[in-house]
Amino acid sequence: MIDLHTHTNKSDGTDSPRELVNKAISLGITLLGLTDHDTTSGWQEAVQTVRGSIRLALGSEISCLTNDGTSVHMLALLFDGDNKKMQTMLEETRDGRLPRMRKMIEKMRAAGIDISMDDVEAARPTGATLGRPHLADALVNKGIINSRDEAFQGMLNNDSAFYLSHAAPTPVDAIAMIRAAGGVAVIAHPFASHRGQILKAADFSDLVAAGLNGIEVDHRDQNPDERAMLRVVAKELGLVITGASDYHGNGKLNSLAEFQTAPDQWEKLESLADQRRVVRA
Ligand code: AMP
Ligand code: ZN
Ligand code: FE
Ligand code: FE
Repeated sequence: MIDLHTHTNKSDGTDSPRELVNKAISLGITLLGLTDHDTTSGWQEAVQTVRGSIRLALGSEISCLTNDGTSVHMLALLFDGDNKKMQTMLEETRDGRLPRMRKMIEKMRAAGIDISMDDVEAARPTGATLGRPHLADALVNKGIINSRDEAFQGMLNNDSAFYLSHAAPTPVDAIAMIRAAGGVAVIAHPFASHRGQILKAADFSDLVAAGLNGIEVDHRDQNPDERAMLRVVAKELGLVITGASDYHGNGKLNSLAEFQTAPDQWEKLESLADQRRVVRA
């Protein structure tokens, strides 16, 4: 069982890295990808929890923005965590999330919604990459809405008047940086249309030229038609096909290993990294 895309409380998931690895072990997951948004801060705790036959593919889900303003998520796996350029890129994105949150809060306050940066900070686990889910949690804590899901269907949706993007690398720059750090790049849920504007099949050729290695095809936010189209794109471009849960603990309905990656696809992906970096006990 291979699940390559999961989150912890180092970003907007609710389990600690230790809890996540323990749940993966009890479910019988053989390879777990740890991909918190724009950070590697959960790696150490996850590595310390590894035992038995589970293996870890350490990574991060990198927030990207195309030149025309489309939000893209890039899964970076098996890169060198000590790579300076990579860590600087992640840090700059995390830093950019603070002014973005302040501005979103200002817009909400201007619309009469009683929410503050302190409320959001209270909802954010220490050191976690700040995101809209923490704002959603703050709104839930204040009794303004009932759930994260409700927030993302309404006032925190990409199409909402309160939504703002934050500074982020382009997908091409992120891919180049991931590959230069020895890792592999898999574009996450590219046809997840309910999140707002999405990529077109033609956009993939530029990403492949930049070094893209794979496409996340099997993901709950892509319907069977979207998955079928992505499978065709992946085959045409010679890209690895992955599937994953995008587990966020209690923060999302997604359950661990609800979608998986086939072993042969994983072997191909792993062979494209510059070194064997999978973590074992
Ligand atoms: P941000 O990176 O701050 O723009 O926030 C986007 C994050 O919100 C993504 O990582 C998603 O995992 C998360 N998200 C999107 N939709 C939902 C939802 N319906 N429920 C909970 N989290 C969501
Ligand atoms: Zn998330
Ligand atoms: Fe994502
Ligand atoms: Fe994710």
